[in-house]
Amino acid sequence: DPQLNQNYTFENFIEGECNRLARSAGYAVANKPGGTSFNPLMIYGDVGLGKTHLSQAIGNEIKRNLPDKLVIYVSCEKFCQQFVDSLKNNTINDFVNFYQAMDVIIMDDVHNFAGKEKTQDIFFHIFNHLHQSGKQIILTSDKAPKDLAGLEERLLSRFKWGLSADIQIPDLETRMAILKKKMYSDGIELPENVVEYVATQIDNSVRELEGAMVSLLAQSTLNKKEIDLGLAKSMLKNFVKNTHKEISMDFIQKLVCEYFEVPVDMVKSKVRKREIVQARQISMYLAKSHTKSSLKSIGAFFGGRDHSTVIYACQTVEDLIETDKKFKTYVSDIMKKLKS
Ligand code: ADP
Ligand code: MG
Repeated sequence: DPQLNQNYTFENFIEGECNRLARSAGYAVANKPGGTSFNPLMIYGDVGLGKTHLSQAIGNEIKRNLPDKLVIYVSCEKFCQQFVDSLKNNTINDFVNFYQAMDVIIMDDVHNFAGKEKTQDIFFHIFNHLHQSGKQIILTSDKAPKDLAGLEERLLSRFKWGLSADIQIPDLETRMAILKKKMYSDGIELPENVVEYVATQIDNSVRELEGAMVSLLAQSTLNKKEIDLGLAKSMLKNFVKNTHKEISMDFIQKLVCEYFEVPVDMVKSKVRKREIVQARQISMYLAKSHTKSSLKSIGAFFGGRDHSTVIYACQTVEDLIETDKKFKTYVSDIMKKLKS
């Protein structure tokens, strides 16, 4: 399957207290897709902790045991994009039929459904069809179903039907085991004190842990230096610094429009449809809070408006954050994306 990354296997997934339930439920599902009460299986947790890896490991394991099963892995984002395309091209039936023909669907990052009501409707129908036919559904998300605001209630209630299992940040010992496993498969040897130092310093994400190791190797090759504690220390200083980037208004506009499925040029237009106005006001609010741009230049950027329009937009957004829980989730989701 081109969608599945062959490196994401159970063998390569280190087990720890942090992921034990999710891993063993995943393994059970992989050996009996559709035949356990873990349907859907929802794996949730923060970014970089192994949700994509584990969900694809399930897919790979199913393909290995049951090669005839039709397994599809798709990110929620890609699914949304495909849906929009199928609307444009008049191929919604093909789109729905394709997904309803699967034996196993793995959908990654379903929190990205927030704000996309039309796509949620279509997925609701696909979900029901698959579930009624005893097909396996595997979902991942950055929050537990009960905390996933911005999704339709009927879809959320389906997400709660099976098992939700979280993945947490691995403890130091597990982080070291992950680093060692990774090095071993890349044929690299690192001194024990370096492994321990890196695993101690980076305690928020397995992805960053791997990133740090790649940087370390690059530094060592570039400077023709051996990897030792000194090199690890100087590397990690830069590694932490490099992760702070400037946010531009272009980027804000792109993110907000993607989030609400709104064409990018619309926020700069004079259109006063509710969803466009909402996207425009949130964009202005984020530009005010996340860039150094003046009110005047923010107004100019978003369609030649004056500074009082920007003040009004910011006020409106602040009020809605206070009073509307769903709206607050939209804004905080987009902020998270801005910073990642
Ligand atoms: P998420 O989808 O939760 O953001 P990923 O699945 O993309 O995280 O994991 C980030 C990286 O960390 C991947 O390269 C993955 O292989 C690795 N990783 C995460 N957890 C583990 C683990 N328990 N054992 C081995 N590698 C892991
Ligand atoms: Mg992921």
